[in-house]
Amino acid sequence: MGRRYRLYPTQEQGTVLTGWGHTARALWNVALEQRKYLWEQRRYTLRSAEQCKQLTAARADLEWIRELPAQAGQQTLRILDRAYDNFWNPNHPADFPARKKRGHRLSVPLPGQAVEVRKLNRRWAEVRLPKLGWVRFRLSRALGGTIRNATVSQDGNGWHISFGIHTGRKPAAPNGKPGCGVDFGIASSAYVSTEDKPRQMPPTLTKNERKRLEYLEHKKARQQTYAKKHNGGKYSNRLRRTITAIGKLRTRQANRRSDFTHKLTTDLAKNHGFVGIEDLRVKNMTKSANGTVEEPGRQVRQKAGLNRSILDNTPGERRRQLEYKSGLYGSELRPVPAFHTSQTCAACGKVDPESRKGCGRLFACVHCGHEDDADHNASVEIEARARRTGGTVTNSTRSTTVRVPAPGRRRTRETQPATYG
Ligand SMILES: [Zn+2]
Repeated sequence: MGRRYRLYPTQEQGTVLTGWGHTARALWNVALEQRKYLWEQRRYTLRSAEQCKQLTAARADLEWIRELPAQAGQQTLRILDRAYDNFWNPNHPADFPARKKRGHRLSVPLPGQAVEVRKLNRRWAEVRLPKLGWVRFRLSRALGGTIRNATVSQDGNGWHISFGIHTGRKPAAPNGKPGCGVDFGIASSAYVSTEDKPRQMPPTLTKNERKRLEYLEHKKARQQTYAKKHNGGKYSNRLRRTITAIGKLRTRQANRRSDFTHKLTTDLAKNHGFVGIEDLRVKNMTKSANGTVEEPGRQVRQKAGLNRSILDNTPGERRRQLEYKSGLYGSELRPVPAFHTSQTCAACGKVDPESRKGCGRLFACVHCGHEDDADHNASVEIEARARRTGGTVTNSTRSTTVRVPAPGRRRTRETQPATYG
């Protein structure tokens, strides 16, 4: 289990942590380049055990690497190992490990042995980080287990520390409640088959916040143009302030979205014997419609807008949460094939695109006359499919599709917009 707390370093501690964050990022990029180079030149696979030894040697010579605690450096290299393992695993959706850009969220990983936590009072605790000493954090909930690893990170809202916790909690016995099917849609955030109203995610920004965000984005664009024209592309302090302000709003937005998602998935897992969802590959669904130079895609802007609304509803994250929460609350996650769920009549089972024609959000079966909200109809169909699969489906996120790039085409591009639902 992961636990994340707001961290309150002093100003000096903050400066040190920022330095560590950039060093860890640079180390990741250098290690990745080294592995790529050795593979391309000599077909040699470099792993963290060897790179850790080189890191030790580098620490003796280079001051900036020496400032990062050795354990943090080693942990970074071990995480790179895992990124490679995931990429090699055909059942894992991960892409090739990516470089970390300067503007990325700063993060410093540490193994569990490197940190120590002590409680100060009901609301506060502190964590001892190597070379830095005790740093206070807000104990918003109990740790509830032993610490396996810790990551210090910074986002638009400030510093956080997250712990990987071994809780030793056993999966709960089946809760014996009736099952349900859920349609994660765009028009309605989630439609549960046993309910007569969709669950709507409240707006993640207020009207004024949206206005301000728009204003800041314009300001940023203007300042960037100015920087290119007059400063040789060098960012001014004012431009950096604008970027920080945008980051703050975006973090707030992300937090509200995450709050809704957690409440939704907890409720689904807690109150249903099984939860049926569509087995969708989000990555394929939200591919860019750009196409290639020879074959430009159609409706690129529209697809980008659709992608944004799909990702805004975070289907992948919902599924990840449902997977671990269903175990905790005695429920079961049943992913079902997604073919034609939106065109299948939940009453008579006939598949016909005509049933959706010209009706907007309404589903009207042309065979039996059954009428329903299109998303609710889909959720009932998903529940029926989940019921049929029984307990045979495992709780695996990973699609079994093997990654084979199409010949003569770049793997990451799609020439046609993918259809959804
Ligand atoms: Zn029908």
